[in-house]
Amino acid sequence: MRILITGGAGFIGSHLAERHLESGDEVYILDDLSTGSIDNIHHIKGHPKFTYHLDSVSNSYLSAELVDRCDLIYHLAAAVGVRLIVESPVRTIETNIRSTEIVLGLAAKKRKRVLIASTSEVYGKREKVPFREDDDLVMGPTNKGRWSYACSKAIDEFLAIAYWKEKHVPTVIARLFNTVGPRQTGRYGMVIPNLVRQALVGEELTVFGDGAQTRCFTHVSDAVGALMGIASHPEAVGQVYNIGSTREISILELAERIKHLTGSSSRIVLVPYDQAYEEGFEDMMRRVPDLFKINALIGYEPKIGLDDILESVIEDQRARLADHPYRAPMGGTKQSVVQRAV
Ligand code: UDP
Repeated sequence: MRILITGGAGFIGSHLAERHLESGDEVYILDDLSTGSIDNIHHIKGHPKFTYHLDSVSNSYLSAELVDRCDLIYHLAAAVGVRLIVESPVRTIETNIRSTEIVLGLAAKKRKRVLIASTSEVYGKREKVPFREDDDLVMGPTNKGRWSYACSKAIDEFLAIAYWKEKHVPTVIARLFNTVGPRQTGRYGMVIPNLVRQALVGEELTVFGDGAQTRCFTHVSDAVGALMGIASHPEAVGQVYNIGSTREISILELAERIKHLTGSSSRIVLVPYDQAYEEGFEDMMRRVPDLFKINALIGYEPKIGLDDILESVIEDQRARLADHPYRAPMGGTKQSVVQRAV
């Protein structure tokens, strides 16, 4: 098969590219490196079945050529990361909706199969867990930037289903729950790489709110297996699937676990949400997927437990710090990292 991955130099995209190459497929990626990184594809750049284009999906000539050439398209290119979203809401809304419109419009010409990567964020402020794919979505008000991400992704989902119903484009939607692993950067706010980096450089571990909020973390290799399983499954067309894990942990416990596994002497500090993000920021207190639907379709169950996930991130962050010892997270300063690292 010929596979196109938009956002293929990103964290999940690069793992997906690697797995398709291992399966013998020809892989094309399109990435403007806005949040992805050339380092993520460094090891596959010379592979004879791998082609990469450092460009945006909005280059519609190139996108059209790539969509035409490929049998299956994974649309992963998007603005991601809560911090990025809160700081750049215009970019979030425009990137997420426009790029999906372009990909689906091009795929419609020859009815190419498209997997749209969505997010558990679309469940919004819903309090009843676990979240099922056909549950109502509960959004916050439009003056709270965070919800623009959820709404932009919900529009992407509506569009994908509309293209299937009206134009018979075979689309599948994946709602990814907190996916982590090597290559994920903490620069856009993601908690595990952020806390691991802080623990390794001797900074305080910043737990936002009171730390009682919980998340379920999935290793990227489990998530990629699930994406591949639903992407070409004949019964998945026009459907939405949760991809994640049901093992819940509070963020405070997570910080303690990271401190233990890294052997760090850093303190854990609680940072109010207003300081961490913006005035009036609303978090989701729990986020647990119902995995019945994807399990029934492809027998999906996540295999990698939390400690193994954390160990893989610790190893990755150690290697990153060895390569770029002074790289500060978004919103951090080079100076503060240098001072605390010595
Ligand atoms: N968080 C935290 N410290 C950090 C980064 C994030 O306590 O340095 C919290 C964040 O407020 C949220 C959880 O960790 O409650 C997961 O955040 P992330 O951005 O990784 O994913 P989300 O589930 O919010 O999309």
